[in-house]
Amino acid sequence: MRRDVVSRSIHVDTDTCVGSGWCVNLAAGVFRLGPDGKSTVVDAQGESLDAIEEAVDSCPVSAISVDDEPTE
Ligand code: SF4
Repeated sequence: MRRDVVSRSIHVDTDTCVGSGWCVNLAAGVFRLGPDGKSTVVDAQGESLDAIEEAVDSCPVSAISVDDEPTE
């Protein structure tokens, strides 16, 4: 089922992130590792919600949070 998103806010807690790179591997259009080795959000709309949710679920320290406002 396709879900349209009118607004999406993705946050990485850099204090918690351990730089595993899982989110970058799974959703490269959204996440990138910065010079400090921590993940940062480069484009909240850069991947499908499914890919982003997979990245969230794969983060070993649960550092990623997503707020979506879906339309029906
Ligand atoms: S998956 Fe989690 S711990 Fe790994 S780089 Fe991304 S935010 Fe950091």
